[in-house]
Amino acid sequence: MKISRYFMPTLREDPADAEIISHKLMVRAGMIRKIAAGIYDYLPLGLRVLRKVENIVREEMNRAGSIEVLLPSIIPADLWKETGRWDVYGKELLRVKDRHENDFCYGPTHEEAMTDLVRRDVKSYKQLPVILYQIQTKFRDEIRPRFGLMRGREFIMKDAYSFDRDEESAAESYRKMFRAYERIFKRCGLEFRAVEAATGQIGGSSSHEFMVLADSGEDCIVSCQKCGYASNIEKADVLSENITRMDKTMPPTIKVKTPGKRTIDEVSKFLKKEPRDFIKTLIYTVGGNNGEACAVLLRGDYEVNETKLARLLETDQLEMASPEKVKEITNASVGFAGPKGLKCRIVADFSIKGFANGVSGANEDDFHVLNVFEGRDFRVKIYGDIRNVIQGDACPRCAESILSFHRGIEVGHVFRLGTKYSKAMKAVFLDPNGKKKTIVMGTYGIGIARIAAAAIEQRHDDHGIEWPFSIAPFHIIILPLNKNDKKVADTAASMEEELENAGYEVLLDDRDERAGIKFNDADLIGVPLQIVVGSRGLKNGEIEIKIRKDGRKMHVKLDDLKEKLTEIISELKAG
Ligand code: ATP
Ligand code: MG
Repeated sequence: MKISRYFMPTLREDPADAEIISHKLMVRAGMIRKIAAGIYDYLPLGLRVLRKVENIVREEMNRAGSIEVLLPSIIPADLWKETGRWDVYGKELLRVKDRHENDFCYGPTHEEAMTDLVRRDVKSYKQLPVILYQIQTKFRDEIRPRFGLMRGREFIMKDAYSFDRDEESAAESYRKMFRAYERIFKRCGLEFRAVEAATGQIGGSSSHEFMVLADSGEDCIVSCQKCGYASNIEKADVLSENITRMDKTMPPTIKVKTPGKRTIDEVSKFLKKEPRDFIKTLIYTVGGNNGEACAVLLRGDYEVNETKLARLLETDQLEMASPEKVKEITNASVGFAGPKGLKCRIVADFSIKGFANGVSGANEDDFHVLNVFEGRDFRVKIYGDIRNVIQGDACPRCAESILSFHRGIEVGHVFRLGTKYSKAMKAVFLDPNGKKKTIVMGTYGIGIARIAAAAIEQRHDDHGIEWPFSIAPFHIIILPLNKNDKKVADTAASMEEELENAGYEVLLDDRDERAGIKFNDADLIGVPLQIVVGSRGLKNGEIEIKIRKDGRKMHVKLDDLKEKLTEIISELKAG
């Protein structure tokens, strides 16, 4: 492919709205262009990478026995009403009406549509198990689309769904998909880790996320060096803590003025206390907009874990209360809530059990209270583990080692669903005894473009992208340097043809540009191998090969080029 005839608009400047490196580099390398928030054009170079990723995913899905289908992206609301998700999915679901005023949504995920397909045609245990997948454009009206393709609103997902006759068989399907995912991410050249993931309301079932390790990752993962435990922080349990009452004399509470000091940080400095002496009091609403208010307590230096909290409260509609609601419940502005005298339901983290001499808001603007005691000054309705693990916490599985913390990018998710969808949608089959049974399901997602973005996060330098060979848009870029030397141009052109015929994907920078610009663009777009053709080298029948990822350069005789390429490429493919 000749760059002069190609569509590869590279840029020298970073786009103003890009916060992370993969976003910057994808735009600068001419892979993508934004058309609206979270919605992108895929340009030729970007599309080639996505196709490569798709092909790896497709091959591994097929190898694992999953079968490809393609369902519509527009789904009738009726199916979503059957499972109740039409009402609970919220604003991420893009709802549309047709000309007859019928409701549809643009599919953000396809459990309903796939279950509907299967329930219509699968009648007998003999047709199970079956795993169906598709590679398709999804839409989620993300509240904060950002980071380019990493968190788009429109994005390409591979989603697979398994249908089994019982839990045991479903576990086998899950294992198959798990193994396929490991192969996929390995082949894409990613350094990743599978971690335990939260299952939300569908307790009991297992779920793992595949995380690419990168500092820019939005997820926090914790792991134990000793026993191998690895989990999303959303899921990580806190090892139970021993609580001791510190003050048996139980002095009375004292109200103190804390003008304009709202956060624990501000108040603790002002009162010369430690954050851990505080009873953090957060007001939530449970069950939608007009839902019940609930006060949530935890030790001042802890962060609430909303996934655990939602589970404790048995809801999937949990929100921080609005400032108006906080005022209504506490009689005070945000920042001055405390458990003493509160009229709403109070739930608390285990760290609040037996809390003595606590500091909390006074439920009055500009006031806090000292000497707050659990039991005497307030009562807790339910206790639970509702905080995030923090630095220094022990591994909840082996208890023998301190947890390590890393950032991760979730590129894939496997999830045992049990019968949540099949039961609601009456997806049943007849077992060998002619008895009606509900199908047991699993769901398995991979973000195609997110893989590409994650690969860039892991593999780049100051000059640009360093694509893993397996997902690089091209294998080789030829850089003829002296544009006025006809021999250089001819050699480069015939080399392009020859290498393409040999099965390589080749870009030829035949543009009338300075060498510096060609080198910069080649480094930016990250093609794994660069072949430099220059007048001086050609006099000796030589060209230069540069390996993008480590900058290694070697002079090679033209006659030995193919042999040398075979050797280097097998090395690159190996990792
Ligand atoms: P996240 O927590 O990042 O929003 P999710 O839990 O909503 O992800 P799933 O519903 O499990 O994601 O979707 C399956 C896969 O689709 C994810 O693992 C991720 O790779 C990809 N994905 C999800 N949302 C987006 C998005 N907005 N843009 C790009 N890829 C996405
Ligand atoms: Mg999401």
